[in-house]
Formats: sequence, structure tokens, C-alpha cells
Amino acid sequence: MKTKTLLPIFLLSAAVAVTMALPQTQAEEEKKPIQVLFTNVNIFDGFSDTLQTGMSVLVENNYIKEVAKTITKPEGAYVVDGGGRTMTPGLIDMHQHVMLNPPEGTASYQTRWDDAAGGAFAQHHLVNNMLLKGITTIRDIAGDPLDVAKAIDMGYLPGPRIYSSGGAISQVGGHGDWAGRNVPPELLTDKMDMTQRTQNSWSVTGPDEVTRAVRLNLRRGAAFTKVMGGGGVASEFDPLEIMGLAADEVARAVEISADNGTYVATHAYHDASYNRLLDLGVRSFEHGFLISEPTVKRMKKMQDEGKEIVWSFQCFMSINSFGSYESMPEFFTHEQKVKGVAVGKGARQAAKMMNEHDVFTVGGSDMFSPGLVERIKEDLTCNVKAGFTAVQALKHWTGNAGIVLKWSGPKDPYPTYELGTIKEGAYADLLLWDGNPLEDIELILDESKLHFIMKDGLTYKNTLVGVDSPIYRPVKTPLTRGQFPL
Ligand SMILES: [Zn+2]
Repeated sequence: MKTKTLLPIFLLSAAVAVTMALPQTQAEEEKKPIQVLFTNVNIFDGFSDTLQTGMSVLVENNYIKEVAKTITKPEGAYVVDGGGRTMTPGLIDMHQHVMLNPPEGTASYQTRWDDAAGGAFAQHHLVNNMLLKGITTIRDIAGDPLDVAKAIDMGYLPGPRIYSSGGAISQVGGHGDWAGRNVPPELLTDKMDMTQRTQNSWSVTGPDEVTRAVRLNLRRGAAFTKVMGGGGVASEFDPLEIMGLAADEVARAVEISADNGTYVATHAYHDASYNRLLDLGVRSFEHGFLISEPTVKRMKKMQDEGKEIVWSFQCFMSINSFGSYESMPEFFTHEQKVKGVAVGKGARQAAKMMNEHDVFTVGGSDMFSPGLVERIKEDLTCNVKAGFTAVQALKHWTGNAGIVLKWSGPKDPYPTYELGTIKEGAYADLLLWDGNPLEDIELILDESKLHFIMKDGLTYKNTLVGVDSPIYRPVKTPLTRGQFPL
């Protein structure tokens, strides 16, 4: 009898001992950093004009711990032999609108697709046309992908890092006003207008409405503010020549953003708006394809005096898509196509002047909607067609971009490490290519030449080591956006 009673007790104690031991072992295992040692790679660090050859890079969890000629393999580290391939930082698209990807572009939300579908289209493109093509970070600069970004950061969805402005701030009748022409004024509110209800854009009147919109964006995790400082191509009511928003409205956007430690980016095309926005403290200047040389010189002078401002170049959209009436996106109206042709003409000249005067520049595709979003990397190769060198083009999409992203200050959703560079103390966002893109930029369009994609220490493409390699094990990353579980 005793034996019979003792045996289950023994088994029970053994089971308790095992269950108590298991979590401990797992916890210890999870505490160990995961290390990946890349050997024999030639590095473009995001800034230098030449490659550092024959280098090794040690990644620990989600950051780059060491870059050196020789690194002794730490115990337990996984090794990726780079085979003399080129390592670049992950690419950064500084002008994206990932929520505006339903088939009919910006008009979609009015009648054809709800915001749930908008999120589904966004997620498809974030993975297939961005992350899996080597674009590991985007600056989303009008639109609201903030909860998609939160889900990516928390590990529920794959995708690139997203720095978002949240909804762009536009005047009523400006570049961000996508409501129908005869919508009654009382329905143009953020309760009734679908683009405002989805927080993809705000149509404001007066500084106090600007305050509210900027604060609502920042409250939900926006990293900076986007204002529509002039007329646009893909909108109905605003000729390119107009000024967007009144001076006191822009000033308020700058004030509230600066109070929160971050900056304002603007959509604008011509001298009058660029100069007023420079006066008001705006820092990231998109487009600008109709500006003249004195304004370019002024920007350079301000940069030389230590002002942190940047020109953001949308090459493909201005030079290719807007190259002729016929090449314009099909969903554009006649008026939008005519505006586009004017922009296309100015863009080559603007790029030439910015290059000649060495204005600090980043690259952003502005390429969204089916037919364009699949071709984002052609914006980078377009930079070379517009007169920049391949090295400059790559800097626009890596090192320079990483600098501007950090202007978000305390609103930076990825504050721990640097971005857009391969160096000790940068996030582990890196790519391995066959060949040298500094000499042949076109190779980045050939997906068979892109062998390895790592973002935040996780591998998303790998043709170099066995697929059962533990480097696929997800690392735990700190929650950088959204403190609460879904
Ligand atoms: Zn844009």
C-alpha cells in the first residue's frame, strides 16, 4: 500500500521539479544575446565615398555591436560568410504614403474602400514592395499608418520601421482636402469627411484647428508634422502657384511640433512658399521643383550657418511619372496631368541646382498606388539619371536619411540606436548585394543580386546559409511604440 501511495507522490514531485526547472532554463536561454557574425564583406557605411573592404560585422540582438577587419567569433555566434559581397545599410524611403495604396489612390476612401481595406493594402505593400526588397525604414509623410506601425513594432506583423507624420495638415481646399467638390461645408468636418475620419489628412481653418490636429497626431505616435505649404498635383482645388496654409497656421504647426521636440516637413513647389516656410522654421522641404537658384543658395547658406534643414527629392515621380502628359498615373484628371507636366520640367533643373550648390538632400519616392509602389527602388536609380553620382544617391537613401529621422527627438519611435549606417551602435538593418552598387547603381533593381535582408536583427531574406539556421529565431525587441499589449 505504501509503495502504491509513494509512487504517485514521487512522480508528482519529479514533475514539479521538471516544470520548475524548465522555465528557469528557458529564461536563462532567452537572456543570452543572439549574435550573428558577418565575415568577408565590403561595407558602404551610408556616408563614405568608397567601400571598406574585407570587413567583419558583429550583430547582437537588434544592433551592430562591432565593425572591424577581424572579429573573433564569440561563443555561440552564428556565422554568415559574406563571400566578398557588398554590405549596405537597409534602404530608407523618406517620402511614402503607404495608406494611400488602394487601387484608386487618394480618391479611394471617398467611395470605394474603407480604412480596413486601406490597412490591408498597406500591409501587403509594406512587406512585398518594401521590406522584402531591402527598404527597411520608411518616412510616411501624410496618411495614418500609426497602428500598422505599432503592430509591426510589437512583432504582430512583418514590415519596415515607420516614421509617420500622421494626417497631413492642409487648408480647406488645399493639397490634403480630398472631399468632393460639392460636399456641404457642414460635412467637411473630421466627423463626416472620410479622409479626416481615417486621420489620413486634416482640413483646417485657423491656428487653433492646427493645434488640435498636430496634437492629435502626436498623441497617437506621430514622429513629426507634415503641412501642405502650397498647391499640389494630385488634388483638385489647388493650383501649384497657391500658398498653402496662412503664415500663422504654419507658425502654429512649427510651435507645437517644436514644443514636442520634433520638426515640420512641408509639401511645396515654388519660391514664395519655400521662402515663407524657411522664415517660419519648417525644416524638411519636399518637392520644390519650381524654385529658382537664389532660394537654393539661401537653403545652402542656412545649412552652412548650422540650420538643420533638408531638401527631399522625389526623382521618379517628378522626372518619370510627370515626364509627359501620357506617363501620368491613369487616375489623374486632365487638370492634374497638366500640373504634373509643369513639375516634371522643373524637377531636372531643381536637382541640378541642389547638386551644384551641395544642398543636404534625402531621397523619397512618393511612389504609391498599384503600378508605382512595385517600382520604388527606381527612385534611387533615377537620382543618377538626374545628375547625382551613385554614392550620392545611396547617401540620400541611407546615411542622410538616418540623420533626418533623428530630428524627431523625443518623438523618435526608434530612439536607441542610429539608422541608415553600418557602424557600432546602429540598428542591425543591413543588406548584402552581389557587386558594388557604388559603381553600378542599377544592380539594386535586380532582386537576384540581393542575398540578405536583416531588419532589427531579424532575417527576412537569406540565400547564403541554411534556412534552418537559428538566426531566424525572433529576438525580443523593446516596445518602442504603444506601451500596452493589443
Ligand atoms: Zn507626397
